[in-house]
Parts: sequence; structure tokens; C-alpha cells
Amino acid sequence: MMTQYLALKAEAADCLLFYRMGDFFELFFEDAKQAAQILDIALTSRGEHLGVPIPMCGVPVHSAEGYLARLIKAGCRVAIAEQVETPEEAKKRGGSKALVARDIVRFVTAGTLTEEALLEPRRANVLAAVCDVRGTIGIAACDISTGRMELEECAPDRLGAALARLGASETVAPEGLEGVPLDTIPRSPRDFSSDGGEARLKAVHGVSTLDGFGDFTRAMLAAAGGLIAYLDHVGRGKLPLLLPPVARSGDAALAMDEATRASLEILTTAQGTRRGSLVEAVDRCVTGAGARQLADDLSAPLTDAAAIQARLALVEWLHDDPLLRADLRAVLRALPDLGRALGRIVAGRGSPRDLGQLRDGLSEARRIHDYLVQRTERPALLDALLPSLTGHGALTDLYARALVPAPPTERGQGGFIAEGYDAALDELRRVSGDARRAIAMLEAKYRDQTGIAALKIRHNGVLGYFIEVPAKHGDALMAPDSGFTHRQTMAGAVRFNALALHEEASRIAEAGGHALAAEEAHFEELIAAAVAARHAIAATAAALARIDVAAGQAERAAEGGWCKPVISDGLGLDITGGRHPVVEAALAAKGERFIANDCRLAQHDRLWLVGGPNMGGKSTFLRQNALIVLLAQAGGFVPAEAARIGLVDRLFSRVGASDNLARGRSTFMVEMVETAAILAQATERSFVILDEVGRGTSTYDGLALAWAVVEAVHGINRCRCLFATHYHELARLAESCEALSLHHVRAREWKGELVLLHEVSEGPADRSYGLAVAKLAGVPAPVVARAKSVLDRLEKGRAETGGLAAGLGDLPLFAAAAAAPAEPADPVRERLRDLDVDALSPREALDVLYALKRAADSD
Ligand code: ADP
Repeated sequence: MMTQYLALKAEAADCLLFYRMGDFFELFFEDAKQAAQILDIALTSRGEHLGVPIPMCGVPVHSAEGYLARLIKAGCRVAIAEQVETPEEAKKRGGSKALVARDIVRFVTAGTLTEEALLEPRRANVLAAVCDVRGTIGIAACDISTGRMELEECAPDRLGAALARLGASETVAPEGLEGVPLDTIPRSPRDFSSDGGEARLKAVHGVSTLDGFGDFTRAMLAAAGGLIAYLDHVGRGKLPLLLPPVARSGDAALAMDEATRASLEILTTAQGTRRGSLVEAVDRCVTGAGARQLADDLSAPLTDAAAIQARLALVEWLHDDPLLRADLRAVLRALPDLGRALGRIVAGRGSPRDLGQLRDGLSEARRIHDYLVQRTERPALLDALLPSLTGHGALTDLYARALVPAPPTERGQGGFIAEGYDAALDELRRVSGDARRAIAMLEAKYRDQTGIAALKIRHNGVLGYFIEVPAKHGDALMAPDSGFTHRQTMAGAVRFNALALHEEASRIAEAGGHALAAEEAHFEELIAAAVAARHAIAATAAALARIDVAAGQAERAAEGGWCKPVISDGLGLDITGGRHPVVEAALAAKGERFIANDCRLAQHDRLWLVGGPNMGGKSTFLRQNALIVLLAQAGGFVPAEAARIGLVDRLFSRVGASDNLARGRSTFMVEMVETAAILAQATERSFVILDEVGRGTSTYDGLALAWAVVEAVHGINRCRCLFATHYHELARLAESCEALSLHHVRAREWKGELVLLHEVSEGPADRSYGLAVAKLAGVPAPVVARAKSVLDRLEKGRAETGGLAAGLGDLPLFAAAAAAPAEPADPVRERLRDLDVDALSPREALDVLYALKRAADSD
């Protein structure tokens, strides 16, 4: 057995090997140690290998899914080795000692899950493949639980941003590729060839050209090749559901790099939870598919005004009609997860229940269609979606006739094909039903016959049907002519068989076996019908998800009094009464009110410096405006009274180092690298928020850097920018930067207490209130008092010297580095140059020397 195990383990490579033995999956050696630790199950041992006991642990097959889920979460991959023949077959093949043949039937990895229990309903599960074709990165991404597949390409320096957007749970790449995440799975570079990729895509979709799906570049095709090859490997030759690939162009989406996504906490917070993230604050979808689509929308907001308007129009339509929205959401709420049921079916892991879900989901889709189609003045996007909701009549009819109302997840026991679908099956069921009734009648008959009232006919897995009497009556039935044959003696009972019972039991078994086979054959046909219609079903699922997203956005807007943003081609950003959806919700939970604030950036006033005390609301203000842009371009309403948004091509968000220290990854270096990226990439169309940049280093360095960054963003990038800072000195920039204005979050001291008003006003911050904040935070009074006296001295010093930024006011823009400083005039040098030494007498020379010395001293 160990030989077989080791051979399979070699094939499983760095995956844990689940080795099927009867009702258990067993793990051995290092696998066992690792799994026992992660799963917190007992580590035992079995036999010996090379003289040492073999560590072993196991999980029951029937509850393997839960254990798999935990292993996958912990970052493991698992190879499942099943018995591929029965013990009887093995004996026939190789004698009584023959080992049952086993083979790896599947690899379970984070990116290739389809099981409902292993997937999160509201999150897409993405597998990505990345490769490099002559300096261009190709990326193929798919969610095999629904079959969605996207191809894109980008420059190597944009790979990080692209992967951040995809949020893949597993990434594969050719061995040796640089710039990919650490846990990327290396694959043979041969898998990533563009010709191979093209051939594989054609084969998967049964087409002779990919032109019908779009234009794909070599890099995209190569990545697709690597992706499909990997899927082929993990599925052991069985490919999951793959829909036709969609080419994603880099420009179609609002570009956001990894740091921006992390700092805006779009899908998860800094702590990695969905709670507290933007998507959680926005998501009112009633289906898992809708929630996944929303997450996708927020990860890749659009840059095409028409596409955004189309989504907004649908949200508005649903927003303005609360009754329609409520009805629609009630129907959507009851929908099964069509896309994922289809994913399991095509991957060969579908159950009768999944077929039932298709039946119910597709019929509901039709009803939703009929309901919406009666409405007048439908938005264009809805009209485009409606046809996808119908067209499954034949399939749903078939399933309605073939399946029982609530089909089971297990098909081993049969019972999922409805009565009336197959006359032969009905007959088989009738036969076994008759036989069951006959057995029930036999019980009464045997009681009469033997006079034993306690006689029972029972059934178990080992004996099948048998007659049981209490031990004291056993002897009576033991008589050779009693018509009963003894089978088993228990502590308190004796068990018998009888000819008539045996006959009826055989009828049940035989009919049952045939019935199961018949159901299995029907199951295959029903699965094949779904597979054949997979593209249309996936389109229905996608249309329902889009409708759910729009209805959810409308619901959210109605709930929070959000408005429909106006999207323009200009370069302004005009938000009235904007709010931060996450902070507002957190405050509401405590019974506090959020103070709405305006933001008005325009070409001539594109950079706002926002000052004011810590905790005053600067970060919140910056982020809320970035989030409003993001939400608007994702096609949803925004938390504001009114918003007019000039389309943004790239969004950047940076937080000064110290704010991020808790994450343990932010250093001043990272801050500067990230800032450099903005300076390199932000265009006139971009929107940048910079929060306390420069704070991660000493005051002088920090101020100097912040100063230079503001100047560059203002003068070179010329993008819209909100810059929060506690350096008062930066206010002097308003004198030299014409499109920069000063703002601050208001605070007041009232009866010696600091009151933070969270209101953004024009003008520079008057003071920092640092000590008041310290007091608010509970710093002991003597310490605050001492700080006050230190501060007084510092401020006195500042008044005398002109402060930290003295002399910066007339610092010419960028001139310092560009022009070499002119040599200062030097009278001593001039006189020396003019001197005719030969013409001097020693006495005159001495006089000149005295004069020069005087000149030098007075300098
Ligand atoms: P800063 O960046 O100025 O230090 P933050 O933006 O982190 O301040 O805000 C600090 C806290 O103040 C937030 O956690 C929130 O509770 C509260 N706050 C911020 N903005 C507002 C607002 N507009 N209305 C009400 N409370 C706010």
C-alpha cells in the first residue's frame, strides 16, 4: 500500500494527499502532521516506513468538505485520491490480496472551488494566470464557480494594480516570472504559449475562430493558455464551466493601484474584514450573485460616460418607484444562485438539487421578465437585459416534469425523478412499493401464525429484511418445520428469515436497483441539457445579478438619501453635502450625526490644502470624496445632496506613514515609493487624495517633502487633489500656486474644552489644537500643562526667527534645482583681480593688504 501511496504522493507534489480508505480520507507523513495541526485533529501512527512509525490522521469522507474548507483557508492545496475500483473488482483482477486501485481524481485549490460549502456566497472566487510575452504582461482571470473569464494585458509596472483589482484567491505563472505575489504557483512556461492558448480556447468553445468573442492579443492568449492548462491539471482532464472570454481593456476601468485600494478599504478593511469596508456599507443586494457583481463594479468603476449613465438610469428608475423595487427585490431574494449551480453542473459536480435550482431560477427569471416588460419607459440598460431573462422554456418544462419539487443534494439514494416522467421507472417504484406493502402484511400474518404479538419485521444494512422475536419466543421458531430459518441471535432477541419475506425483499432490491439505474440515466440527460444551454443560462444569471445590483443601489440610495451624480466631461468635482458612507454608518450606530461637507474642485482651484486639528475629520473628508467618485463611476448613487463629477481616469489615495504603522508594512520608504508613483502617473483627469504625506519622517524632511509634492502635483500633474496636512507652514504655498486654496476642519475651544465641529471651511487653520486633542485623549493634566509651557517657548522662538518655513515664501518654484546659483559678488576677490602687483611698492602693497583685510572682516 505504501508503494501506491508514495507514487500518488509524488504526483500530488506539494499538495496534501487525501488518500481514500473506506469511509475515510487518510493523510500520512508530513501531510498528516500539517493537517492535524491546522484541523486540530488527533495525529496517530500506522505501521512503519524505513523503520519509523508513519504519522497519520484522517477525516471522514462524509464530512470532508468542512475539513477541506479549513485547509484551503489555511493556504493548502489538496489532492483527492479516490478508489477507482471496488474491492470485488480488485479481487477479480489480482486475487484476494490485491490492493484497490486508486487515482487522484481532483485537486482542490483556493481558486478552483465550486462547492457551495467552500465558497462565500457574496464574493467572487478568482483564479488568475499571469505571463510575460516580450515585455507585455498577459493576465487571464476566471471565476470557475460561475465560468466568467476575462483577459487583459498591461505593462509590467501595472501588474500589481491589475492583480489588486482582481483580488485572486490563487495565481499561477510560468516558473521564474518576476513581480508576481509570493504564493504564486509556478507552472511550466510551456503552458503559456499564445498559440496553445488560442487552440485551447477554440477547443473549449468549439469554434474555429475567436473573432466572435473579441480581439485578443498574444499576451492575453498566452495567459489564457496557462489558465486552461492549470484547470485541466487540477480537474484531471475535466474542465470546469468556462464562458467565452471577454477582453478587458485597461482604459475602460478607473485605474486604482494596490495602495489606493487598500487605503480606500473598498472590499476589505485594513484588518481584512468585509465589515467596515465600502462594499459592506453599500451592498443591499438580495442575491449572492448581485453582491459579487457589486464587488466587481466597485473594484473596476467605469470611465465611459455613456456606460455609467446607462447604469445610473436603471438605478434611478428603480429608485423612483419604491413599490416596483420592493416587489422585484422580494422575487430576487428567493432566487437560487443560478451561476454557481451551473458552475457545479458543468464541472461534473452537480447534484439533483442544482438541477432543481436551475429549474426554479430560470422560471423565476421568466416571471421577472414578464413583470418588467409590462412597464413603460424602461431604461435602455433594462431593455438590453430583458431578453436574457427568457428563452429557457423548453429546459424549465423538462425539469418541471422530470424533477420532484425539492430534489436532494445526494443522488445515490435516487428519489429525485418525479412520478409520471418515466413510465418504466414508475412501474419499478410500484413494484417495490407493492413489495413493501406485502412485507407489512406479512408481519401481521406471521404474528397470527406464531401467536407472538411482539414479532416484528425489521430492516438493517447488513441483514436486509428479517423477522425478530424476543429471545423467550426464539425456540418456537427454531423448529425445523416452523417455516423460519435462523439468522442471528442477539442478547434479547432472535432473528429469522422466511421464504415469502425473502422473495418480497428480493423484489424490492431488484426493482430498487433498476430504478436507481434509471434515475441515474435521466440525471445524465438532464445534466447534458443544462450543459448544452450553459451560455444562455450564464447570461440569465448575469442579467439577474445586474438587476439586483441596480435595485440594491436604488434601495441604498433611498435609505440614505443619496443622489444621482451628474457625470460630465469637465475637470471639476463639485460635491454638495457629501458624506462618508462607512463613517456615517459607524456614527449612526452610536446615535451620532455625520456632518456633511462640500467639495468644489475646478480647473482654477484644483488643489485644496486641508488643515486643522487631529481627529478633526480631514481623512474622512478626503476619503469621502474619493469614494463618491468611485461610487458614481461604478454607476451608483452617491452619499451627497448633489454631485457633479468630471470623469476621473485614475484615482490615487495615499496615507502618510504613521497612520499605517499598525499594519506593520508601512515605512517612510513605502510612503515615498507610493508618492513617486502618483507623481509619475497622475494626469490632468486624475483625482488624488494625499493624507499627511511626509509625516513618516522628521519635521524638516517631512515639511520639505510635503512642500515639494504639493508643488509638483499642482504645477506638473495638474490633477485634482485634496491634501491634508498638519504643517501650517504649507499655507504659504497659496501665495505661489494659483490653483491652490486653503481649507480647514473647524474646531473651537469652549470653556477650556476642545470641540471638533467636523466642518470644512475656507481659509487656513488658525492653530493645531494639539494639546487640546491630547487632553481629550486623556493625557494627564500635569503633562499637558508642561507641554503648554514648552510650546510657549517654542512659539516665542518661532516668532523671533520667522518659524520653520521662514524664507520659503519667496522660494522660486522648481527654480532652486534647475538654475545653478549665480556666484555671489565678492569685493575682495574683485580688488585682487584688478591689482597690478608689479606696479606696487612694498609700502603700497602693505596698505592694500590692510585694506583687503578690513574688507574681508566687514563681510
Ligand atoms: P483627522 O484625519 O483630521 O485626524 P479623521 O478624519 O480621522 O480626522 O476623523 C476622526 C473622527 O472624527 C472620525 O473617526 C469620526 O468619528 C469623526 N468625524 C470625522 N468626520 C466627521 C464628520 N464629517 N461628521 C461627524 N464626525 C466626523
